[in-house]
Amino acid sequence: MTHSKNLSPDTLLAQASHYIDEKTGALTPAIQPSTTFGRDSNYDLMGDYIYGRNHNPTFDQVEKVLCELEGGAEARLFASGQAAITALFETVAQGRHIVAPDIMYHGAQAWMRRLAQKRGIELTLFDARSAEGLANAVRPGQTDIVWIETLLNPTWDVMDIAKAADIAHAAGALLGVDATVTPPVTTRALGFGADIVFHSATKYLNGHSDVLGGVLITRTRDQRWAEVCEIRTLVGGIMGPFEAWLLLRGMRTLGLRCERAFASAARIAHHFEGHAKLDRVLYPGLESHPGHALAASQMTRGFGGMLSFLVKGDAAMAKALIANLQIFIAATSLGGVESLVEHRATVEGPQSLVPENLIRISVGIESADDLIGDLEQAFDLL
Ligand SMILES: *Cc1c(COP(=O)(O)O)cnc(C)c1O
Repeated sequence: MTHSKNLSPDTLLAQASHYIDEKTGALTPAIQPSTTFGRDSNYDLMGDYIYGRNHNPTFDQVEKVLCELEGGAEARLFASGQAAITALFETVAQGRHIVAPDIMYHGAQAWMRRLAQKRGIELTLFDARSAEGLANAVRPGQTDIVWIETLLNPTWDVMDIAKAADIAHAAGALLGVDATVTPPVTTRALGFGADIVFHSATKYLNGHSDVLGGVLITRTRDQRWAEVCEIRTLVGGIMGPFEAWLLLRGMRTLGLRCERAFASAARIAHHFEGHAKLDRVLYPGLESHPGHALAASQMTRGFGGMLSFLVKGDAAMAKALIANLQIFIAATSLGGVESLVEHRATVEGPQSLVPENLIRISVGIESADDLIGDLEQAFDLL
């Protein structure tokens, strides 16, 4: 089956890249639970598979769709976002240097700190709000990986992907981009010069808070990529076939889910900007946000479904607001159909640079009126 490269990601997603099983006509790939794959009388493998820790047929269509969405050369599924990130950073040799933002997804940063403490890898955390932060952090010839997030979690400061790619490449480093909060229906980081793009599939890609998964997509099938694939097999952080199947099902509605969540997030941000009980609303869709124009140039569809409130007052005030909410659910994670709210400083612990009065909001697909009403009543009770 052929189809034009100009099709919208929504079309690609809805049909899982025009999937039809050639043998049965099924529109949904089968789940293949087998952990091992047989050999013929010549002791040759009967197909392309050998053992479940190497690969599984259920991954094929999922990886194909992700690869086409991002415009990459190859995609690989992992057991979690962290399994994907750690597989990439396992390729960094002792004595080399890695660079990442000071405020970012805390789990990935915790892994980098561990590499710096135990593996003889040097780590520089740069201030992404300073224009020269990244340029000053890289060390030409020594820096191996520059890691950024498209929107920094949870301040939603915007990283300039093309500029980061130039800086990384000039230093001889690879640019890895965590695009979890800007799924490929809105941002394609490889097109801006990233070498490897990452998503926690646990978030928007699956979107139903019922699958843990991660994915890496590479621009080129090079030596580093071969090593990443080998590490997935050797370390074993591989996705289960049932999870891969669920992920593909979740991804079919990614375009629709993002459309609703992004529109509702924009409404909420505009509605509460300037509220008497808030210091600030952090959302790149607000004209007042310093990264607004840059976000507009990197996101083709709105400004995402994530925002944060800086509540007037301290951590206790922020938590009181959360406690007053009746529709938003107080829980970690993001990108699911249900709206979540979280006090990040508590979750990240004492090392966190996240302000204590910040609450992070992941907007789901409920009615925006209900969500705004819930926040209104929660503020009124403060
Ligand atoms: C959740 C998340 C991760 C880690 O993914 P897991 O699936 O939880 O392992 C990495 N980066 C970002 C931005 C995330 O939100």
